[in-house]
Amino acid sequence: MTKTKDDVDADLPDTDQASEYYALYEPKEILGRGISSTVRRCVEKKTGKEYAVKIIDVSGEKGEDYQVEQTKKDTLREINILRMCESHENIIELHDYFESAAFIFLVFELCKMGELFDYLTEVVSLSEKRTRIIMRQLMEAVDFIHTKSIVHRDLKPENILLDDNMNIKVSDFGFATVLTEDEELLELCGTPGYLAPEVLAVSMYDNVPGYGKAVDLWACGVIMYTLLCGSPPFWHRKQMLMIRAIMQGSYSFSSPEWDEVSETPKDLIKKMLVVDPNERITAKEALAHPFFRRELVPAKKFMAKKVFVSAIWCVRFFYRLQYFYRHPPPISFETVTTNPYSVKLMRKLIDGCAFGMYGHWVKRGDNQNRAALFEHTLREDWKCSTPT
Ligand code: ADP
Ligand code: MG
Repeated sequence: MTKTKDDVDADLPDTDQASEYYALYEPKEILGRGISSTVRRCVEKKTGKEYAVKIIDVSGEKGEDYQVEQTKKDTLREINILRMCESHENIIELHDYFESAAFIFLVFELCKMGELFDYLTEVVSLSEKRTRIIMRQLMEAVDFIHTKSIVHRDLKPENILLDDNMNIKVSDFGFATVLTEDEELLELCGTPGYLAPEVLAVSMYDNVPGYGKAVDLWACGVIMYTLLCGSPPFWHRKQMLMIRAIMQGSYSFSSPEWDEVSETPKDLIKKMLVVDPNERITAKEALAHPFFRRELVPAKKFMAKKVFVSAIWCVRFFYRLQYFYRHPPPISFETVTTNPYSVKLMRKLIDGCAFGMYGHWVKRGDNQNRAALFEHTLREDWKCSTPT
């Protein structure tokens, strides 16, 4: 990058760097869209390397003058924050940027595997092991930004991208801000299902304290819960009831998806989804939680006979497992007709089919539809109209 930090602090200079951008990069297909931005894949002509460019419209055609000014200001803030984070491997890297009167171009490293959101929709839910890998990287990124007094304020699976090796990159710092000492934030920003109770409280009541970094930990709790069971902790068809559930921290691990999840990740989620931000776990504390702790196994002496016997047992175990996989125990007709969801195999099949058929309903920024796909009890208003 050729520009210095001071350049971005100043107002946008009256230059037109759009032609400079087009001279250096070849724009390709659209990867994603936001309110006033479009993200495309692009190729650097000189090196043939691929990047993602976020093109932000500041032409004024899509809004009032004050909105355009705000977009410019927010983009400069986003650039500044991205540059403060450029050394972390789990935070998206800003490669270059260009400014013109109509557009701002932010050139990022390309995350070929797309959003964590789409990955989750494809696989429905994640194993504890996969969740541990993703959450550890997320907590490391959050801890890093928090030590720099940055609050992200919009952590959600749509803003967590995956690179070729399935490592996460936290992106979209559009709502991020740098906190000055003892500063408390008062703006309502973020995405409904991920908003912390204290953010909602600020927008609903007078004389309540502002909020700070802890809001990111709440969002991480919502993300971790959703990764493990596929459906979000707080949701209701009526948004007001969802907001009430958030304010009361009312959620449960009662759905059948939680039966196979151990206590350790549940304990971490409980510590993240604490209503009082002062009692909520910090990113550093979360990284020290047993869920992330891996016992160090001391190196053992190689014993050929023991290894040979273990190998035979492994092979026998594998054949046994294969046998049970091919010949699963019979499921009674009654269970299938009355409660198919209680059988793990059937549940996975039903959820898989539902996501295969209706996965496209699950909209970005709206957790409601994802949750609706997991609803397997008959709605009260439908029960009445069911013929008897
Ligand atoms: P917005 O502020 O408009 O939400 P984002 O920065 O979140 O903009 O980008 C919108 C979408 O574009 C993302 O959710 C993602 O699908 C895609 N995208 C953004 N950056 C990249 C990237 N570096 N690599 C691949 N896709 C990206
Ligand atoms: Mg986004």
